[in-house]
Amino acid sequence: MNGWLAIAGLGPGDDALVTPEVTQALAQATDVVGYIPYVARVAERPGLRLHPSDNRVELDRSRHALQMAAEGRRVVVVSSGDPGVFAMAAAVFEAVEAGPDAWRALDIRVLPGITAMLAAAARAGAPLGHDFCAINLSDNLKPWALIEKRLRLAAEADFAMAFYNPRSRSRPEGFARVLEVLRAVCEPERLILFARAVSTPEEALRVVPLAQATPEMADMRTMVLVGASTTRLIARDGETPWVYTPRSVGA
Ligand code: SAH
Repeated sequence: MNGWLAIAGLGPGDDALVTPEVTQALAQATDVVGYIPYVARVAERPGLRLHPSDNRVELDRSRHALQMAAEGRRVVVVSSGDPGVFAMAAAVFEAVEAGPDAWRALDIRVLPGITAMLAAAARAGAPLGHDFCAINLSDNLKPWALIEKRLRLAAEADFAMAFYNPRSRSRPEGFARVLEVLRAVCEPERLILFARAVSTPEEALRVVPLAQATPEMADMRTMVLVGASTTRLIARDGETPWVYTPRSVGA
């Protein structure tokens, strides 16, 4: 019984941004488990079983993966970006904690990936060059009041901010409220980057001051990066400007 479980990040989209470690785990796997569009990114080959599943079944999916690893299979659970960032790694450990003792002895590895926040930041320049925080704006797994509190306090502390899951069809009003909270704390010139489908053929980048930001600029394939008060622009002819946050403040 030499089963193992790898929880792997596939990066933001481009195959060039998948780490060699993840590619190797996929080459050795007998089973790949994950959300349908992520499993679709894994090439089929003889001897490999793909187990795509719908969203919002993270715990079932984790238990299934752990069960197969316990039976001696070599299982890769895939996430987009990094598996530890609003993704499957925490779900697997939740299942391990609540599951049979034998699961604690399994060979489990988390293989990092390039998270959307870092891929988006790299395209724009260096907006996260100073202190920053990351917030998941989805209220599927936490109350909206907590999101608003974290947002307000982070803005007051003058962090740059990266927003995952900014806007869904089922709650379009959420991101409008986020912009209201930002407008109550930050100046109208505050820079906002909308980075859509980074590292895919549909990639689109847009930088606007907070005063011009609208809810329609974000969808579920967009990362929103909000600058700190020190974040600046370097204009370029015919190109999206560079956005960067100086490394020092008040020093
Ligand atoms: N584990 C993933 C994040 C999952 S949450 C990671 O580390 O990247 C899903 C959210 O990530 C999306 O709603 C979007 O905000 C962001 N995202 C994922 N891929 C993206 C991409 N290629 N470009 C822009 N945003 C992306």
